[in-house]
Amino acid sequence: VTMNWKYSRDTHPQTRLVNITDTLKIGGNTGNTLIMCGPCSIESEQQIETVAQMLVRNNIKVIRAGCFKPRTSPYKFMGLGKEGLDILAKIREKYGLRIITEARDASHIDLVIEYADIIQIGAKAMWDYGILSACGQTQKPILLKRSFGARLKEFAQVAEFILNAGNPNVILCERGIRSIEVDTRFTLDLCGVAWLKKHTNLPIVIDPSHAMGERYGVADLARASMAMGIDGLLIETHPCPDEALSDAQQQLSLHDFEHLFHSLKPIAKAIGKDVV
Ligand code: PEP
Ligand code: MN
Repeated sequence: VTMNWKYSRDTHPQTRLVNITDTLKIGGNTGNTLIMCGPCSIESEQQIETVAQMLVRNNIKVIRAGCFKPRTSPYKFMGLGKEGLDILAKIREKYGLRIITEARDASHIDLVIEYADIIQIGAKAMWDYGILSACGQTQKPILLKRSFGARLKEFAQVAEFILNAGNPNVILCERGIRSIEVDTRFTLDLCGVAWLKKHTNLPIVIDPSHAMGERYGVADLARASMAMGIDGLLIETHPCPDEALSDAQQQLSLHDFEHLFHSLKPIAKAIGKDVV
């Protein structure tokens, strides 16, 4: 039996166009790479304001910030929760930015769906069927992160749960997988990205920040990713990275981020794309 996988280019050859708003889109034949950036976690109104102002200065449209953080230790900051969502909603009003924020588990998924413009499903939540089923019932864009232990087809098939439940607006995000290597936090699977581009019709985003896990490699990986002709980049940046309450080692200072951002434009241009 041949299956008609909704994610597959055999079923639907064109890359899907996902509408974030009427005027802001990702994928399709927009020819754009959408930049989504901001801190790992929202920590305070002042912190997120500072980031928002930098984005507005650079005409960047999407801000990231987690409110429900999955952590590797129960003694660490788990996020501001609903209070964080309320601050993000204020920032959206004030600066006209779009918000991508993550769901850690199904207990708060409805809240995240209500507030977010793009719902991020974290790498550790990729197999949470409560989240997947709720995300299948909304029409809001879903950014599904690849678990660091998931094979490509497993990843695509998890996306299929959302597509099949009725939400066509799924974006895939490669953020590094576990490999034999331990000196970098994860291994950014660019071969996997090539496979996803060939076999799936979903827009593809790369997150170099979580793959590297350290500041020093993030800009290089972002530029290499951009050269692959992807639909979006998700990058962590923080006003005082060393003091960040989560992922302090990998977040770029706003200054370093801006420097990186400007270096992406000529790369995009060289492959016939635009940075938005
Ligand atoms: C994040 O984006 O801050 C995050 C927790 O990422 P991941 O789910 O890829 O680890
Ligand atoms: Mn993070």
